[in-house]
Amino acid sequence: MDFFAVDIYRMKETVCKFAWSSVTSTMVNTFRPCCRFPFDDKNQYPTTDQVLLKGQQALNNAFMTDLRKDMLDGVKRSECSKCYVEEESGIKSMRQKGNEALSSECKSVEFENLEFLEISLDNLCNLECRMCESTFSTKLQQRDKFLQNNGFYIQPINVRYKTLEMMDKFDLTHLKAIKMLGGEPLISPNLLKFLDKIPYPHLVDLFIVTNATTIPNETVLEKFNQFKSVKFTFSIDGIYQFNDYQRVGSSFESSIGNSLFLSQMYQNNHSIHSVYSSLNIFGLNDSVEWFEKYMTLGLSIDIVSCNFLSPYNSPTWYAEAILDHISPTNSFKNYVSNLFDQYHNYQPEEWNKFLKFVKLTDDMYNTDIGKINPLLKNELDKLTVNVD
Ligand code: SF4
Ligand code: SF4
Repeated sequence: MDFFAVDIYRMKETVCKFAWSSVTSTMVNTFRPCCRFPFDDKNQYPTTDQVLLKGQQALNNAFMTDLRKDMLDGVKRSECSKCYVEEESGIKSMRQKGNEALSSECKSVEFENLEFLEISLDNLCNLECRMCESTFSTKLQQRDKFLQNNGFYIQPINVRYKTLEMMDKFDLTHLKAIKMLGGEPLISPNLLKFLDKIPYPHLVDLFIVTNATTIPNETVLEKFNQFKSVKFTFSIDGIYQFNDYQRVGSSFESSIGNSLFLSQMYQNNHSIHSVYSSLNIFGLNDSVEWFEKYMTLGLSIDIVSCNFLSPYNSPTWYAEAILDHISPTNSFKNYVSNLFDQYHNYQPEEWNKFLKFVKLTDDMYNTDIGKINPLLKNELDKLTVNVD
């Protein structure tokens, strides 16, 4: 049975089985219950070093047990707000999907069995996506140094992953699903080493988030066949120029071709995932319509929320223009409106930083934001952006 195709499991509005049976690794060698939990500025998440020392018991630290207690007590955690917005918008939330698919009983505040592992093998990547940073992509080191030299608080760091060592400390016998993220997992030299560590691959659904720039070699494709199922999420941030501007180094047509090839090789409900920042967001309407018309793959979207590229930081006139450009018949209209209701809050400092970023990166890559976002181009032309 597919990982996301088990019977509905009804639970309280706040209980989420991810907190009892899942771990998501971060780029700074810590673990959170799912990918939606934000950067840990208070250093509360369990660390890889603690897992190396204590095994799974490290997942019962104060932060995690408090989280489980809140969920059992019906407390709505702010970290989980995106799932609540999805549920209010009539979209099946990640929480609801997890509660259907995972087996935990959620009876106490203790971690149960590791059923879902979300992991990055390393930060080797072949793209320089504008909304990304060098923590996630080796290719962005040069850009981040350039931004740093121009006053941005960005620290290009060499990440030292401990993924493979840490795998030996977990009990992997209950694993039902693994989600692999980047860097770009399909070009990682650690990919086969990692997959070889899974004791019962025939019981494990493999989810791979890929930038769709690469078809892996025969050995990797054969290894995938040992797993119960393989499901790809293709990261394509809109159609044509909307994708290619934001995902520097990628080509929309090539990504679509690779997506179709891999989808046909492994029959499953593969999907396209599009991320919209303040740069490409005016491509949302046409892109959703195009994907729904021409592709049989599923479609999900995300709005950047965690840095100065987020449209939630934009001035009200810009946010209104974003909402206005989405047709009333667009299937994501309601969802995007609800997200803006919840999160939009003009931050002049972040917006100015964003404008400066656009100018600097257009200069660096010899690109022109006007080709995908004339409104923003007009705004930049009106302003004198101080890049010194
Ligand atoms: S409710 Fe949503 S955000 Fe919270 S742990 Fe579950 S999946 Fe993650
Ligand atoms: S493909 Fe992923 S890891 Fe690579 S630069 Fe883009 S967002 Fe970052």
